[in-house]
Amino acid sequence: MEYGYFAASPLDSVRVNFGEYMNKMKARDDAHRVNGIPDYAFPLDLKLREQLRKIPLFYTISKKIAVHTEARARQLETAQSVMASPTQFPDIFNMARDCAKRLGIGAPNVYVTHDQSMNAYTYASDTVTPTIVVTNGLVERLTPGEIKCVIGHECGHVHNEHLVYQSVCNVLANLLSGRNAIIQLLSKTNVLLFYEWSRAAEITCDRAGMICADSVQDAINVNKKLAYGSFLNREDVDINIKEIRAQLDELSMVASVYTELMRTHPSGIRRVLASDEFSRCELLYKWRPDLKKPGMKLQTKEETDAAVSKYIAVLKEDREETK
Ligand SMILES: [Zn+2]
Repeated sequence: MEYGYFAASPLDSVRVNFGEYMNKMKARDDAHRVNGIPDYAFPLDLKLREQLRKIPLFYTISKKIAVHTEARARQLETAQSVMASPTQFPDIFNMARDCAKRLGIGAPNVYVTHDQSMNAYTYASDTVTPTIVVTNGLVERLTPGEIKCVIGHECGHVHNEHLVYQSVCNVLANLLSGRNAIIQLLSKTNVLLFYEWSRAAEITCDRAGMICADSVQDAINVNKKLAYGSFLNREDVDINIKEIRAQLDELSMVASVYTELMRTHPSGIRRVLASDEFSRCELLYKWRPDLKKPGMKLQTKEETDAAVSKYIAVLKEDREETK
């Protein structure tokens, strides 16, 4: 067919009203927020974030570090890693687009880097232009569905604006023994508070990973694999939730508490149990009705949070308090 000068353009039927698009996105986003915070966030994450913000200058310094770190990290990754695109690691590129769209954040740039450990991390100082890095160790050992959950988890950090707080965590991890302005700013109690917040924030983001998943089981399997390291070419390994729960009960009797209190992430077995609880939470299926199976027995978010609080409390007193 020949198009004359006045022929209808195929683009005429495409709605290009940006304001309308933004309003639609906002309405969708608002439906999943409570007081401006994503509704799946773990309550301890929010509570401790508020406490951190009360530390004088904490937020201002953290934000500055995040902006500086993000710009520098993006340059470094551009120099040493490979960025996913429609023609380079297109599967990873598409997973990131899907997850970002699901949560309502800007599409991240995802880099694949040479590192045999199973890891992923994010740099962002806002929700618009995040940078996510995944290691080849992670890509090799996880299934595509599981990789998507990891990318969803990282998008969760962006969605919850965790990176501003996390930037201080990373500095702390490197400089705990040195005399540094930030260390001087934070008392010992505040340092422990920071680590406790960081572990709670990970629970929030494991939930984001499940919300972005193609299957709930993928999200639980990621945490199982992060706990035991995953074996290449061994799909017959199965980890039993009941046994993991018994293992955690035993943990309360050993002197591992101090080590755990200074960790940025909850231990693998705690995360497996927390994910298992969220897989039965009605809120998950508000986000993802398509993942719901007939006859599922669901629990409220409050019930889920209460159960998870017990699993991630490192100190016995905290566990008792949540009973
Ligand atoms: Zn994380």
